[in-house]
Amino acid sequence: MDVVRAPGRAVGNSHALGIAHDNDLRTYVITHINEAIDNGWVRPYYQPVVRTLSGKLCGFEALARWEDPVHGLLDPCVFIGALEETRLIHLLDCSIIRQVCQQYRACVDNGEPTVPVSFNLSRLDFDLCDIFSIVESTAHEFGVPRRMLNIEITETVLGTDPAYMADMMRKFHEAGYQVWMDDFGSGYSTLNALKDFDFDELKIDMEFLNRFGEKSKTILASVVDMAKKLGIQTLAEGVETEEHQVYLRRIGCEKMQGYLFGKPQPFSVGDMHKFADTIGVETTAERLYFNDIGAVNTLSMSERNLTPGNPTHGYVTSMPLAITEFADGAFRVIDSNRVFREGLANVGISSVEEAERLINDTSRPLARQSRQLVETIEVEKYARLDFVAGDIACVMRAKHITTRNGKTALLVSIDDTIEQSERKRHERMDDLLAVMYTIYEHVDVIHVDKGYIEPVFGNIGLHTHYESPDYAKATQQFAEATIYPSDRKRFLDYMRLDSILERIEDSGENFITGFFRLRHHGGEYTWKMIGLIRLADRPNNQVMLVIRSTHWSFDGLLQATFDEHYAANPSDPKGPDLSLSDGSLWRALARDDNVMLFWKDRERRFVGANQAFLDYYGFESASEIIGKTDEDMGWHIDPMPFMQSEQRVLNEGESAKDLVGQCIVRGEVRNIIANKRPVYRNGRIVGLVGYFTDISEEQHAGNEGNLPLRDNLTGLLNYTGLEAATWQFVDAYKRQGIDFAMISISIESFKTINAEFGYSFGDKVLKRVADELVSIAGHQRVLGHVHSDRFVVLAQGDSDETLQGLCDEIERQLMNIPDIDGTPCTVYALASFARFSAIGDIDEMKRYNRDRRSERRNARYAEMHGGQAKSSRSQERGEIALPDDGSGEERSA
Ligand code: C2E
Ligand code: MG
Ligand code: MG
Repeated sequence: MDVVRAPGRAVGNSHALGIAHDNDLRTYVITHINEAIDNGWVRPYYQPVVRTLSGKLCGFEALARWEDPVHGLLDPCVFIGALEETRLIHLLDCSIIRQVCQQYRACVDNGEPTVPVSFNLSRLDFDLCDIFSIVESTAHEFGVPRRMLNIEITETVLGTDPAYMADMMRKFHEAGYQVWMDDFGSGYSTLNALKDFDFDELKIDMEFLNRFGEKSKTILASVVDMAKKLGIQTLAEGVETEEHQVYLRRIGCEKMQGYLFGKPQPFSVGDMHKFADTIGVETTAERLYFNDIGAVNTLSMSERNLTPGNPTHGYVTSMPLAITEFADGAFRVIDSNRVFREGLANVGISSVEEAERLINDTSRPLARQSRQLVETIEVEKYARLDFVAGDIACVMRAKHITTRNGKTALLVSIDDTIEQSERKRHERMDDLLAVMYTIYEHVDVIHVDKGYIEPVFGNIGLHTHYESPDYAKATQQFAEATIYPSDRKRFLDYMRLDSILERIEDSGENFITGFFRLRHHGGEYTWKMIGLIRLADRPNNQVMLVIRSTHWSFDGLLQATFDEHYAANPSDPKGPDLSLSDGSLWRALARDDNVMLFWKDRERRFVGANQAFLDYYGFESASEIIGKTDEDMGWHIDPMPFMQSEQRVLNEGESAKDLVGQCIVRGEVRNIIANKRPVYRNGRIVGLVGYFTDISEEQHAGNEGNLPLRDNLTGLLNYTGLEAATWQFVDAYKRQGIDFAMISISIESFKTINAEFGYSFGDKVLKRVADELVSIAGHQRVLGHVHSDRFVVLAQGDSDETLQGLCDEIERQLMNIPDIDGTPCTVYALASFARFSAIGDIDEMKRYNRDRRSERRNARYAEMHGGQAKSSRSQERGEIALPDDGSGEERSA
């Protein structure tokens, strides 16, 4: 028989023709159902279902159509009711199921992608046939996986015999089919149905979108919220406008079905390819991935849900939350709530897109840190990251949602720390501690009396293990997860709560320290210092636990101590006696001579420094540096790397770790390793704190093949050292345009002194000259003793007046030396300077200086031979006051 292809929907006509015609049609349907099925007039039409978060096709609903050769295309409202009343409906439903399976197979055989199809069942299907067996055998016959078939039933299906229906649903569930509740919200006992039966998905009735007002919106949001709390997926029916779509996305409704995406259409070969080419077709992996994400409720979420061990769906919230995906090396925010977007605006990030740009900009530390965070999170399931947006300190907390097919979804919350840890931090620490605090990687507070550990700051992951307030369990967990196996027992002893206060007290200080190997996210172990500091001014016995890396120069020694100890006593859990280093380590922060500690304000001006720092540079008090920058002090030959790293600390909150550089200390170029971290106040970076160690000795010790750079006699640079320093200055000039000058000093009376008093006295003179030069020119300039009577000063950034002033001062001060070791003598020196920018060549500068001094020497000589009296004062003392004929070396050139 010919199947007439109906051109359009006939349903409108049937309404127009009135009740008489309706009755005729009903009779027609009832009498022709078998024929219609046999002839293929009854067919499933497929309506697309779209994933809200991805926009891809994620399913179809099969809707029955009757393409009648006489009456045209009939809609379900014409035939479903009639078939139900006459108990024939199962014939139609079974036919639809069969065709759905058949067409699924055709798709697969044709190499087309597939998505799950849902079909509608009537209450009567469960009575009139063994619907479960029929679905099973049909699926089996066509090789359709059960996960590709979903059953839709309405609440009316459940009504008459709930126990039986619950049983039927269980059967479908157990076999692996999903059971969806159709038209949720349209009936009267919807909530009861939800309470009594297990549904996998709610199809929210299109009535709510039909009347899309504030009330309906609120109901929709509440339904989605409630569904997530119950762990049920959500689909909105009747999505017809953009506005609907935007709203559904906002409230986290997972799927959408409606005319906006397509009307029900008959199946044609190649359709799936078309979908794949246009909106895309969701794969099974993507479906699982999005199902995991869909379970997360960004609308309604509390602090609890972000913490480990709690579900990601929750209660009431005003938390800033976003679901973020990390895939192919980039982050993408796939969903965010309003509070999150407002929160971004508060820290100066204009939009979610801007946030994505920042976090994916790999030149920023944040990008690196957040990639590490993903690694952590895949193991730990929870991680936090402190970072800076603008100049505001933020905390990002992230919880793992799912990882599938190389994609990881995270639930992310971002707070500015004023709200969070910074406030806690302020409640707990006085100013000094606040500065020191920035040195630590991790800080917790142990409430000794309550056996509870409260995380304050840090991303080592220590507090993530404190899921339970049970102290012993928490430390045990941490030890197992993070502490190197052979350090564990020692760590647990160290952490023992019952003796913690006693041990701190016994230390004679306010703290104790221990060294343990801690596991990184990468898996390797490194030595860390764990300090326990009594918070004396807090009630209820609180102890601050701090963790920091052992960057100090005695690290190597420390580790060697441990290694040695364990080699000798493999089973001794206590480790070597570190009581000696305990105190000094802590003191290191404030006054240990190994560690130069300083802090600066936002403009990189010094705010303070410890005694070791002042001693190192030779300052009497901190007032000599306060308010000045490194450049003001002229400490670095090339200030750029220091400046840039400090700017990164101040602007990006990035810690500078182990920055190797040079600085000028008492006339000498020294190699240092510096570490710097931001200082926060009220959540904003107000400055930085840094510490450095001098590694010049270590470096020299390690470079045995190299020539010594320093002069044993004076302690100043020798010719080689000065040469090296000069090239660094030239390099800084060429790269940064930083000008420098060379002051050459000759001791005119040196030959005579040597001749008169002997060489060992001559050495004393040179040593004294060196000390005087250090005191005049030392801190910011490089000083060298190039050979017997010649000294050189290299100076950056000084004006001509300053340089001339220095030359005068050097001559005057050396001349004013009354005696050396009780032997009266006069040191007559000549000093002159040359500027690199003016002369452009080091050798020329030397020559220039030599010529200047010659001129002055000759003028002086002429002056004296012109009858000028010698100094009466020196004559009285009988010293050698006369200038000799100067340096022979210079003359001869
Ligand atoms: P339903 O399962 O809730 O199907 C959704 C109905 O909404 C479909 O009507 C569909 O065409 C329509 N629809 C989809 N998107 C939109 C939209 O954006 N706007 C509007 N205004 N309508 C939209 P349809 O195909 O006429 O089906 C009506 C009902 O008939 C279905 O409601 C379902 O309960 C029943 N039905 C359909 N096919 C079958 C079947 O094979 N077996 C059984 N037992 N019942 C079926
Ligand atoms: Mg339906
Ligand atoms: Mg429906």
